Amino acid sequence: MSNENKTIYDFDFSLICEYFAQVERQGPGSPETTRKALSFIDNLTEKSHIADIGCGTGGQTITLAQHISGEITALDLFPDFIQIFNRNAEQQGFHNRMKGIVGSMTDALPFEKESLDLLWSEGAIYNIGFERGLNEWRQYLKTGGCIAVSEVSWFTDERPDEINDFWMANYPGIDTIPNKVAQMQKAGYIPIATFVIPETCWTECFFAPCHQAQEDFLKKYPGNKTVEDLIYNQRREEVLYNKYKAFYGYVFYIGKKI
Ligand code: SAH
Repeated sequence: MSNENKTIYDFDFSLICEYFAQVERQGPGSPETTRKALSFIDNLTEKSHIADIGCGTGGQTITLAQHISGEITALDLFPDFIQIFNRNAEQQGFHNRMKGIVGSMTDALPFEKESLDLLWSEGAIYNIGFERGLNEWRQYLKTGGCIAVSEVSWFTDERPDEINDFWMANYPGIDTIPNKVAQMQKAGYIPIATFVIPETCWTECFFAPCHQAQEDFLKKYPGNKTVEDLIYNQRREEVLYNKYKAFYGYVFYIGKKI
């Protein structure tokens, strides 16, 4: 199989974890964007229950904890990320109301039905698929509770083959913003807000911190094919983003359960 056809799932997970554990965020986003998405959500109190699905090491969860009261339970597939998450929560003094647990978003989630006031997921719902995630996670929200997810989306109805093929190979669930909003409505939510996250969330907050991590990783594992492939793919994604960012980006979708 050539590098061209490899997805990130083909690589050794522990190396992927080690690589991404070096950076604060594992996907495009920023504290400002998290706060902006949060500004559309009201009625949260210290009694609120919040879930953060696919939390990674918790970059966005810390921002949530800083700006809302209530208890946050965050879930990620990788124990290494959860270990870092819980260490950071402790260091920042949020361990009383912010807890990371290991689990898969594709299994039944460890929450009571109709128990959550807010369900958050930044740069991670693609792992279950946008539509499936919205449909399956709805049962855990109270009526009137909100969901906020960020998801890669097309900006235009048509785009060059090179970028279309890349995303079809990596995430065929990618779609246009109006189609995603329609999917949200169909899943039983009022779409209350949608906004495109700024380019700097990719360039400055995601790609740039990865540059040093890439150099360090190549030095640490000289000649390691898995590492070389991982970094090749990372760099390719960055090149493609810079070339085609007029055609796609990350979009926040915020909905209220009806
Ligand atoms: N929300 C974080 C991480 C986004 S990267 C941020 O924005 O920085 C996507 C995350 O989804 C990774 O941390 C990855 O470990 C996690 N993930 C992948 N598959 C998953 C699954 N099946 N269940 C839970 N988490 C998963």
